[in-house]
Amino acid sequence: MLTKTNLKKGDTVIVNTGSEKGKKGTILDIDKKSGKVTVKDINVRAKHVKARKQGQESGIIKVECPIDISKVNFYCDKCEKGVRLGVKVNEDGSKTRFCKSCNEMK
Ligand SMILES: [Zn+2]
Repeated sequence: MLTKTNLKKGDTVIVNTGSEKGKKGTILDIDKKSGKVTVKDINVRAKHVKARKQGQESGIIKVECPIDISKVNFYCDKCEKGVRLGVKVNEDGSKTRFCKSCNEMK
């Protein structure tokens, strides 16, 4: 089953729970199958990389790990907080997202 979400890649979201509560980031990827999002600079884990070729350095790189989509809210820069998004269906069938707090189109 696919997770229903109004969020899109490139949206700014704010973490609403856990140790990173209040941190903002841009959505890098959404996996609707698992209901997870990858957000820039959120849930960053160190990953050990082994040198495969000579001259290549082994070391630690940082990668963002996906987090549950329910742990983030869309960040409205007008409200300056995490908000719920509503979706309006236009006459031509296209959809417009809006902030449920200030009604601004997103
Ligand atoms: Zn708003």
